[in-house]
Amino acid sequence: MSENRPLALFGGTFDPIHNAHLRVAWEAAEQLDADVRILPAHVPPHREQPVASAQQRVALVQAALRGQQRLTLDARELQREGPSYTIDTLIEIRAEIGEARPLVLLIGADAFAGLPSWHRWAELFAHAHIGVLTRPGHGGVLPTELRTRIASRRARDATQLRQSPAGRVLTIEVTSLEISATRIRTLLAQGHEPRWLVPDALFADPTLLAPYRSMQA
Ligand code: ATP
Repeated sequence: MSENRPLALFGGTFDPIHNAHLRVAWEAAEQLDADVRILPAHVPPHREQPVASAQQRVALVQAALRGQQRLTLDARELQREGPSYTIDTLIEIRAEIGEARPLVLLIGADAFAGLPSWHRWAELFAHAHIGVLTRPGHGGVLPTELRTRIASRRARDATQLRQSPAGRVLTIEVTSLEISATRIRTLLAQGHEPRWLVPDALFADPTLLAPYRSMQA
């Protein structure tokens, strides 16, 4: 494997993982010629607590990823005590893969707009590129401090991300899929089956989606 082949990381709550997560991660893998690690967060510092436990979310991701090798699970943040900060994870993974290999943090457009609220956010660029995945309804104006910070970092295309290990921002146009975990939780809490919004594998074992079925609608 060439050292310039990027490694991409796709963090999130994945409460539960759904077809848009999988599809946009897959498209990013293809566009960047990268492998993608799905990185579920333990206690997202800027979010409410997930409905499913860490183990339950890992089981959901494992079921969803079965049958292919390009998207893999990286459960390190769930094994760490306390909040999982992306900056710590990037530093750790950078130490593992070496200084030269391009590392790309994939972030949906909605989450990217909130980047300035992340712990030590301005340091993220020292360790990784950021790939912003387009998401329906989230293409608006970015906060000024973020716009200023990334103005000189914009990459034209995926090739540019292979030319350095970190520091660029690339918008990755992916298929618009209006699917959210919030909607899936609501459907399950109301007694509906979110078929074809999540992979079939999540229905194969009735315990996988059980945490959401027992929620108050
Ligand atoms: P919730 O509805 O609970 O907020 P979510 O569907 O946004 O959840 P997360 O686990 O919070 O899912 O998202 C993980 C990452 O996936 C984030 O970077 C988010 O922006 C991105 N993402 C989620 N859904 C989509 C989508 N439909 N299109 C593009 N990116 C998405």
